[in-house]
Amino acid sequence: MLPYSTIEDAAAALGRNLTFAETLWYNYSANKSDYFLYCHNILFLFLVFSVAPLPFVVIESLRSDSFDKYKIQPKVRLSFSEMVRCYKDVMRMFFLVVGPLQLVSFPSVQMVGIRTGLPLPSGWEILAQLVVYFMVEDYTNYWIHRFLHCKWGYEKIHRVHHEYTAPIGFAAPYAHWAEILILGIPSFLGPAMAPGHMITFWLWIALRQIEAIDTHSGYDFPWGFTKYIPFYGGADYHDYHHYVGEQSHSNFASVFTYCDFLYGTDKGYRYQKKLLRKMQEELRGSGEQNGGSYQNLKSE
Ligand SMILES: [Zn+2]
Ligand SMILES: [Zn+2]
Repeated sequence: MLPYSTIEDAAAALGRNLTFAETLWYNYSANKSDYFLYCHNILFLFLVFSVAPLPFVVIESLRSDSFDKYKIQPKVRLSFSEMVRCYKDVMRMFFLVVGPLQLVSFPSVQMVGIRTGLPLPSGWEILAQLVVYFMVEDYTNYWIHRFLHCKWGYEKIHRVHHEYTAPIGFAAPYAHWAEILILGIPSFLGPAMAPGHMITFWLWIALRQIEAIDTHSGYDFPWGFTKYIPFYGGADYHDYHHYVGEQSHSNFASVFTYCDFLYGTDKGYRYQKKLLRKMQEELRGSGEQNGGSYQNLKSE
């Protein structure tokens, strides 16, 4: 709820005219409570989760050679009904855990000082805060994820997320309810440390989810802007973690690669990549193709 009765009052308080984006925000949010604005996150979560993985569902169902060559584990194919089942399982979890958690967690948002008022943050401010959120989340998630790979953590909680040894976009938030709750901490830590505007918070939750869907997509396309993000792990990086499964002590980080590099938990992955490169060179030499997956290594 904005503390101005008219747009002119808002301009007077700011000492300047509102920008186009601020006018839009004023018109949309002036009479809405902060709690209602915060709850938009539930809608965005449902929306992003329902829409962002759809291109991968189409690609997986098409089974066309032009896309299949980018599939990381080509020997694992999920049927359309299997993908729908994964979607339904996650949606059930959203309704039972994530939605209610959002509804009751508003006091924490108020406490850390996420604001809804004017002026709106600049693009640079939003970008800087998002970078901080991603880095804080990545670091904290790394250690929690590593803990979840201890015997107790894996058997009691994390095993569920690893049911998909060749992940798909819909499987990104597929996890035990306790894991969903625990991983809420790294997601909230960044905004708690560097609180920003509600719009930045919405963007953060949506982008983090899109990133998780991308890294679980099962496809490593050579195009896409994420290839230009320094230290970004991507689909191939996290797919390897799922491929190895319970025994995995490699690639714990959720977004970037530097934590695994610093703490020496990417050695298995780097070794496999080296073997794959060697194998591809040999296959190229002998005129064969389709040797670029971990699965081919396993059958060797
Ligand atoms: Zn794991
Ligand atoms: Zn995963």
